[in-house]
Amino acid sequence: MAESGLAFCAAMAAAAAIPAIAQADAQPAALQDRRAYIDPDARTSDDPVRIPLRTTAANGPELVIRGGRVFDAVDNVARPATVVISGNRIRAILPPHSVDWSSDAQIIDATGKTVMPGLIDLHTHVTYPDRNEPIDEQDSEGAGTLRGQRNLRHFLEYGFTSVRDLNGVSNAPFLLSSWSAANAIPAPRVFAAGWIITGTGGHATERPITPSHGPKFAKEVDGPDAWRAMVRKAFKEGASVIKIASHFSADEVRAAIDEAHLLGLKVTCDCETIYTDLAVDAGIDMIEHPLPKSEAAIAKMARARIAAVPTLQVYQNLLDRAGGFYGSTSRRFTMTSQGNFDQFKKMKAAGIVMGIGTDTIGEASMMAPNSYIAELKWFVRGGYSTADALKAATIVNARLLDMGDKLGSLEPGKLADVIIVDGRPDENLDDLARVNDVIKDGIHYIADGQLVVPRHMPLPLVKPSPPADVK
Ligand SMILES: [Zn+2]
Repeated sequence: MAESGLAFCAAMAAAAAIPAIAQADAQPAALQDRRAYIDPDARTSDDPVRIPLRTTAANGPELVIRGGRVFDAVDNVARPATVVISGNRIRAILPPHSVDWSSDAQIIDATGKTVMPGLIDLHTHVTYPDRNEPIDEQDSEGAGTLRGQRNLRHFLEYGFTSVRDLNGVSNAPFLLSSWSAANAIPAPRVFAAGWIITGTGGHATERPITPSHGPKFAKEVDGPDAWRAMVRKAFKEGASVIKIASHFSADEVRAAIDEAHLLGLKVTCDCETIYTDLAVDAGIDMIEHPLPKSEAAIAKMARARIAAVPTLQVYQNLLDRAGGFYGSTSRRFTMTSQGNFDQFKKMKAAGIVMGIGTDTIGEASMMAPNSYIAELKWFVRGGYSTADALKAATIVNARLLDMGDKLGSLEPGKLADVIIVDGRPDENLDDLARVNDVIKDGIHYIADGQLVVPRHMPLPLVKPSPPADVK
């Protein structure tokens, strides 16, 4: 005990020397090595894989948001300013008196409102079945894709411009990701893991088997070669992140992380107790949920800059309601809601960077944004200022996605994911329920709280052939 206590204190001292926000930029060496071959000014796909693309000129009128107070997630204090969007990028943040925009610009009046970066939820499952859904639709890729589209629209309406989806049915999460990236559906950006990778009988595959415990959701694989192969398969299908879950051997988790990093992807883990130690020793990038972990693991996480996505509110609710995990083979520990919150406080005290995720499952997306606001309030209860909680929701989450250079703050050159809130969420988190306007990828999807889908413009016939004399 004394030894681990010493290590814990040493980690706290080491972590204190590094600003918490900066730590989230830490990248595995392999990811940095891969990026070194791409010109930082080159246009690339807007996901962690960063495929070089041909540059295209911005078209359409500029979008100007004026009159509001801007919380840019760089400073902790909002200030009067004007945000100018050109194409899908923020071109400028102007002082209030400046009118430096094109004459045909569209103006949005944000007087009395707060303009801020779009919200990011780092832990969703938008394709999970709803309760009472017909059994044959629960693990259907088609039904999962439709559920996901419905749930993503709810998220978008309340200011979420990115979600990280950490397990779903078949390839539905990847389909939603690519359709959203092309703006073919109104949805936040979807950074999809696709499926959980776990050992046979591991978390999310345990008995009693339900459709969402079946092979279309979690991939049970055994042996380091099989774990490596499953990471490659997720990459092939379009993964932006790899999600693993206990249980696994040291060899298996090392193989998965090594392969993911070579491919340019981060790895996150739903793990607890001894599996957290194995994942941390293998170089995992972040850990989901508070769940029991050793003080030595917390100290190592701080030292190695391994982040956490605590998903506090859902576990607080679950543990308050049920009193613990019972009858679970992958959650073989006892824990109370107080113990859960204590884990959060220990991680914060150690200087571990933490992101905001709700662990929303299926129809729970109907609760958006209430569960998200509750999560932010738990962060404040655990010692964050309101402004720092909003930064966790935006710029820190963007960095944890490996998208900190493109998303998460209002700065020139960043992707135009911008929301307008009727209130002051940097002073009162409840105001986040009053999102008026949502711009994602430069497109004004939500105007005055309503989804706006421009009418499809018919393409001309390839070879006009109607009789010229018929009117
Ligand atoms: Zn989850």
